[in-house]
Amino acid sequence: MKDIIIEADYLITSNTLNSVLKDAAILVVDGEITAIGSKKEINKDYSAPHIISGENKILMPGLVNTHSHSVQTLLRGKADDLALLDWLEKVVIPGESNFTADDVHTSSLLGFAEMIRTGTTTANDMLSSSNAESGINSAIETGIRARIGQMLMDVNPSSPTEGLENADEIIETINQQITNFHYTHNKRIKYTLNARFLLSCSPELMKGIVKTQHRYDDLMIHTHASESQAECREVEKYYKTSYIRALRDVGALGSETIVAHGIWLDEEEYAIMKETDTRLTHNPSSNCKLASGICDVKKHLDLGIIVGLGTDGAPCNNNLDMFREIRLATFLQKVKHLDEKLLPAKQVLRMATIDGARALNWDKEIGSIEKGKRADVVQVDIDTINAIPIYDPISHVVYSASGKDVCMTMIDGKIVYQDNNFNTFSFESLKNKVSQYKEKWSH
Ligand SMILES: [Zn+2]
Repeated sequence: MKDIIIEADYLITSNTLNSVLKDAAILVVDGEITAIGSKKEINKDYSAPHIISGENKILMPGLVNTHSHSVQTLLRGKADDLALLDWLEKVVIPGESNFTADDVHTSSLLGFAEMIRTGTTTANDMLSSSNAESGINSAIETGIRARIGQMLMDVNPSSPTEGLENADEIIETINQQITNFHYTHNKRIKYTLNARFLLSCSPELMKGIVKTQHRYDDLMIHTHASESQAECREVEKYYKTSYIRALRDVGALGSETIVAHGIWLDEEEYAIMKETDTRLTHNPSSNCKLASGICDVKKHLDLGIIVGLGTDGAPCNNNLDMFREIRLATFLQKVKHLDEKLLPAKQVLRMATIDGARALNWDKEIGSIEKGKRADVVQVDIDTINAIPIYDPISHVVYSASGKDVCMTMIDGKIVYQDNNFNTFSFESLKNKVSQYKEKWSH
């Protein structure tokens, strides 16, 4: 891989000091950030065959999407204005289960393409319960960094006593997938144990998942929890205890578990999240669209729980632009607590970068622009109407910018997107595939 110098009018680092450098540059060697400094210094001390101009650009860490369902992207716009359980049972689960391997590949490719286009470099992604390999291959193909794996479920959520699949067979399948994909592609791909949610996972399956986790290093559990009040009531009926307690009782909580949503918790459940060092992904657009509630992110943060930000899937968002989540996350906390000081720009941007990486136990390698980290970085165009004037680049990316302002996405030192072009796959043939699927669905 050739050395690359990337220049920037402004460089947002997300380091511990939240440093922002003006007229700066970084040197990338073999996918690693090996030097950071002023543009002058870097160009004097190093020479690289490839220099990316930073004129009218902000350079910032790639965004970390801690909760996504790339495979649902073909269902965008098919499940609007529904409550969580109807949304899931009437549209999303039937839609996912009708997908062929080819549909899964197309849907995930579209999802990852949109994430890359809008500045996301890492996704924590939950696929469907079949043809997961096709979705993982989409991640590999696009170049995105991902914790990713099959959606695990063995019971029908609308009738939890009715079995769908055998828990032992599911565990056997995922062990095979772990062997094939965990820690592959220069450690860019890590397998994840995606237990859908407790209404679709029997206690036997949950125990099998926990047992599997203990057999491997750095294998996270990713699940939904305490998203809507109706769902929490159903879990109480089925598991005879509340959501977070039920997850704790099967041994599924800990620093290698990330739960999505975490809205309806009682005091003891917050304490359990903290004591077990379980990670939370906050997904504000999804929570608003499904009318699930407003997560008390302030409370999680005050307790010291590590919180990342996610888009959730296209049917409940309906886009995968992390810039919108950043903006909405800060607005929601301000209005929930009637406190304009909550989740200020610097803090919410950390949530989408370094804290997201911490939530995924990936912060030693990614999440900030610092010497020794992998080069997962994005350039934001500021030669735009919404970027004049800029007094503070962090304020700009949090409150004014959108994913459409991203003009270059680099992952692991490789430019995967630049100036309307994807470098790893054909966007034209992806569009053709999507329209073929739409035709099929319409008939
Ligand atoms: Zn989700």
